[in-house]
Order: sequence, then C-alpha cells, then structure tokens
Amino acid sequence: MNLLPGMAELQPQVSAWRRDIHAHPELGFREVRTSALIQKELRAMGLEVITNFCEADTAVIGVLKGKQPGPVIGLRADIDALPMQDEKDESVPYRSQNPGVCHACGHDSHTAALLGTALWFSQNRDKVRGTVKFVFQPAEEGPAPGGAKKIMESGILSDVNYMLGAHQTTSVPPGVIMTRSGVVTASGDFFDIVIEGTGAHGASPHCGTDVVVAASQTVVALQSIVSRRLDPMQPAVLSVCSMQAGEPGTKNVLPAKATLSGTVRTFDETVREEIFALMEQTVQSVCAIYGCTGTLDRQPMFPSLSNNEEVAQVVLAAAREVVGEQNTFVIPQPSTGSEDFAWYARSIPAAFYMFGARPAEGPVYSGHHPKFDLNEDALPVTMSVMAASAIKLMQQHKEK
Ligand SMILES: [Zn+2]
Ligand SMILES: [Zn+2]
Repeated sequence: MNLLPGMAELQPQVSAWRRDIHAHPELGFREVRTSALIQKELRAMGLEVITNFCEADTAVIGVLKGKQPGPVIGLRADIDALPMQDEKDESVPYRSQNPGVCHACGHDSHTAALLGTALWFSQNRDKVRGTVKFVFQPAEEGPAPGGAKKIMESGILSDVNYMLGAHQTTSVPPGVIMTRSGVVTASGDFFDIVIEGTGAHGASPHCGTDVVVAASQTVVALQSIVSRRLDPMQPAVLSVCSMQAGEPGTKNVLPAKATLSGTVRTFDETVREEIFALMEQTVQSVCAIYGCTGTLDRQPMFPSLSNNEEVAQVVLAAAREVVGEQNTFVIPQPSTGSEDFAWYARSIPAAFYMFGARPAEGPVYSGHHPKFDLNEDALPVTMSVMAASAIKLMQQHKEK
C-alpha cells in the first residue's frame, strides 16, 4: 500500500467525522446539520465555501485554488442517509441517534473522506495546479430527481473540466479499487399504473369491469416487452414491485381501481424511451380488452452513468500506484443499480469508482441493510486514490 504521504495521519480525524455524521444521519434535501458541519470544517481549512447556489440548499462547495494555473477538478461526495432504522448493536457508539434514519449506504464515509481529501490538499497546496471544487451533494437516494441534477442546473460547475466520485462497497476489503470505462450503472425510472373500471358484486362480474383481471393481464403482458419486443443485445429490467386492488381479505366485492408500481433499468437512452412507449401501448391495449382505463405515470430518476475513457484510465493508473496492480480491478460489466453521479458525467468528463470497505471481522452486510457498517481503514485509501487521480488530471491537462 502506497498511501499519499500524510494521508494515514489524517485517519483519526476522518474517522471522527465519519462517526459524527453516522450518528446524526439526515434524509435527502434535509441534511442541515451535516451541511453545517461540512461548512465549518472547510472554513477551518481556509477554503472558500459556497452555499445557497441552488434549490438544494444543503449543498456545499469548497473551493481550493492552487498557486499554478491549471484545470478545474470537481470531487464529489453524497451526504444523505436512508429512511430506515439503524439496527446495529446498541454497543456501537456511533449508531444512529435519529430514529428511522440510517447511513446504511456509507455516504457518511464518502463525506468524511472528501473532507479528508480537502484537508490534505489544504496542507499540500503546492500540489494544486488550477482549482479543486469539493462538491458535497444532498439527496443521492432521492427524493427524485436527486441533488446532482439540481447542482448541475445551477451552473455552479460549468467551469469544471473533470469530475470524480466514489462509492464504498463491503463486497471487498479496504485496499481494493474497482472501475471501468464506459457504462457503469443503469438508468432508473419508477412508474405507477392506475387501472380504473366499474366495481361490482363478486357474484355478478358482468355488471362491472374487472380491474383485478385487467391488472393481472397487464403484469403478464409487460413481461414480454423485455423478452419479446427489445433487441436481445440491449439489456433492460422491467419489474412490477407492487400490485394493489381491493381491501385485503375481501371476498365478494370487485374493486373499481388497481395500482401497479415498479421500476425500469436500462443502459441506453433510446431503449429507455422505447420501453416506456411500449409500456404505454401495452397498458392501453390490455385495459381496452377488459373495458377498463389505464394511466401510466413515469417518474424519471437518473440517466445511465458512463465513465469517460480518459478519466477512468487516470483513476486506474492512480489506483495501481496506491493499492498496487493486484488490487486494482476493471469491473467486467455494468451494474443495474443507479447513481445520480450520472448527471455530472453527462456533460463533464468524469469517472466513478468503487473502493473496498469490508469490515475486518464479524458479519458483512451490503449497502441498505439495517445492520450495515464499514471498515474505516478504507478512508485513507480512497482519499489517496482520489487525490492522486486529481493530481494526474492536473498534470495531464497541462501537457495537452
Ligand atoms: Zn444507496
Ligand atoms: Zn449510495
């Protein structure tokens, strides 16, 4: 392991930030305490602090200008937690103090590591050619459309030449770095389908229009969009995740309304639009057969995230220097998860990587599990990879 000089020494401070944020998790667009902590620490480092620049008023940007000219590099951390109970053992001192809110996706570690990276750069200002913008972003987990879109729409990052982001994973230990060029995560859309008909007595279905049968046939018909209508070389997921009609347990009333809800994931914007056009056609056609009406409501979340080839190669090169060739992995295929870092990568050459954070002992839980925890030894590793990648991008930009 070749952490950048001085990074290991920052671990106690960065762990303390991580534990403080972990104990006080806040939901998307409501990260008031977290935002205040970030602002206070960035000011203490001597950075310029920008706030209230977009609709997401908990967003914070720290700006560090180098003495030499160069590009503007954006480094991003997401700062929000999830609406779920922290079920870690009560003996864990940094367990969530906010009922029903938990940093179960590790965004506390992303925030602390980015503060640590800012602290390191503030102590190593001579290494900065150009400007580094430390972007602390609310609401990666939603509500839709998430914080990244709001930050991009504000124009505050219009001068940024390259952007980097990272996410922890407990599937591998600290010291492992993984990324790839091209598509990394899927686009994400949610949907609701409301089917309306005429209710009737269960004994006289001919007196109404049965939404239960129409909804059931709609679920079945939707399955053939991916399996029969799309190019088999274009991966996609269409999942109906809930189905609701009638009062539970009712045995003699045919309801007048049914609701289906779910998600669509794709890796290509054309396929994404095609799926929704086919869904609309399917809902209308199936409902017409049963004499019902159907309405499809789409809630777009994130586009697919695609890493810029050049920037991804820089991250891989930096990772090989920090963690070694044997611990640097090119991810073989994209994930059907989604990540709102995609909004930056749509218009800024950007790369997103995963860093290992598996606990040293005890059971391992993945993100979004109520007992989720991570290994803080991962913090100086991702700080080193992010700082080394930024320095390489500054150097490369100069040589162009
Ligand atoms: Zn998450
Ligand atoms: Zn996450």
